[in-house]
Amino acid sequence: MTSLFEYAPAPESRSIVDIRPSYGLFVDGEFTDGTGTPLKTVNPATEEVLSEVATGSEDDVDRAVRAARRAFVKTWGPMRPADRGKYLFRIARLLQERAREFAVLETLDNGKPIRESRDVDVPLAAAHFFYHAGWADKLEHAGLGPAPRPLGVAGQVIPWNFPLLMLAWKVAPALATGNTVVLKPAETTPLTALLFAEVCQQADLPPGVVNIVTGAGETGRAVISHPDVDKVAFTGSTEVGRSIARTVAGTEKRLTLELGGKAANIVFDDAPIDQAVEGIVRGIFFNQGHVCCAGSRLLVQESVHDDVVAALQRRIGTLRVGDPMDKNTDMGAINSHSQLARIRELTAFGETEGATCWQPDGDLPDRGFWFKPTVFTDVSPAHRIARDEVFGPVLSVMTFRTPDEAVAKANNTTYGLSAGIWSEKGSRILKVTDQLRAGVVWANTFNELDPTSPFGGYKQSGYGREGGRQGLAAYLRSDS
Ligand code: NDP
Repeated sequence: MTSLFEYAPAPESRSIVDIRPSYGLFVDGEFTDGTGTPLKTVNPATEEVLSEVATGSEDDVDRAVRAARRAFVKTWGPMRPADRGKYLFRIARLLQERAREFAVLETLDNGKPIRESRDVDVPLAAAHFFYHAGWADKLEHAGLGPAPRPLGVAGQVIPWNFPLLMLAWKVAPALATGNTVVLKPAETTPLTALLFAEVCQQADLPPGVVNIVTGAGETGRAVISHPDVDKVAFTGSTEVGRSIARTVAGTEKRLTLELGGKAANIVFDDAPIDQAVEGIVRGIFFNQGHVCCAGSRLLVQESVHDDVVAALQRRIGTLRVGDPMDKNTDMGAINSHSQLARIRELTAFGETEGATCWQPDGDLPDRGFWFKPTVFTDVSPAHRIARDEVFGPVLSVMTFRTPDEAVAKANNTTYGLSAGIWSEKGSRILKVTDQLRAGVVWANTFNELDPTSPFGGYKQSGYGREGGRQGLAAYLRSDS
């Protein structure tokens, strides 16, 4: 798309990454063949096939769980907690050393701008390992009981929107608390998890502590339903989360679910508009809107609605959408053809239901999966674009007159993962925050994530917390 300012192209080189033509599963410290039909993973910005990746069958998953159990019983479980911490520190440092390789690979496989994978995903993933490394030998001081013990083998299934970061959210706390792991990455973004497997080898992590089993939904189902898995951690859609909850019900397995969201970003009339506009853009267009805590519902106080929408449209006109490998790009490609189809379907509903659709001028690349940043005004709370998680760069704008109406509209959702408030008045921020049914509330900022801060939702956004001291509890038994 054309933008206000023209920049010379600033492409990141992909030569730092050596993508193999095919990858196996990572089981018991080694890459091995999978017995399912291999999958191809593509670059969503170009539709180029990047590699062929093995699919784990039920038998492969069983092999991985048995390796994880052996490691739990023989090496990782009995290891001194301070030594476990050393391994985590080593992994964190290797992620930093190989940061550029991870960032380039993440951008190629996922479609997100290199600026985001380089400045957000990879540094935050390393930060999660550093943070949890510090906890490894201090768990008895975490306020979770006098002698907390690990659960055993964790089965973890993650989505495609933050492939390496979601892996870090899952693997770091599991290992720090003495558990071993079988992790299934998303079908469309397996490559950074497989590079992470190489990091595990480089760190001399004992075999079986981390196992990575690639594949589609069936492989995920085999992981979460394996009888020797003690804990299930899932991030993804509410629909799949619900089916996992049904599978796990009645077993001894512990479960945490981090599911969808439809966050309200509330702008009061005293908010500094230019600052709020930056936060609105970051809230919904960061990572192409493929963010569970995205601020996809903008609630604007009626008196400033026109000013905010005009400023927002001006700002969106300057966003650069295109080659994710270009360091000037603000918005990259949609992760898959099926996600693009879902975004198109939901935005079409927006128009037929009577909302007004606005998109900036300009063309999108011919190949690959692309969607323009989109703003819907004249949205009513009953419209599907105000209720359903689009999981794309689509913002629905609604208005309110009083703080009570803002709270009522913000809470009028089946989700409850996050929210944002923009106001100069501290007392108003505190009062409204208290009334919002959302796991995270940001004030005068949005989409700030930190390993020290617990993250998780209310209602259909799931249960359990990840990150912070609270996130450790999900991986520990404190009944002794
Ligand atoms: P899914 O929930 O299907 O995928 C998440 C992960 O679960 C993937 O690894 C997936 O494998 C795996 N999986 C799929 N089915 C099962 C199953 N029955 N048992 C165990 N694991 C399973 O999300 P989608 O990728 O299909 O996205 C659909 C919608 O979900 C999006 O449009 C978005 O609205 C929402 N979503 C929300 C996310 C969030 O963070 N809140 C993240 C991703 C999606 P595979 O990749 O092979 O399908």
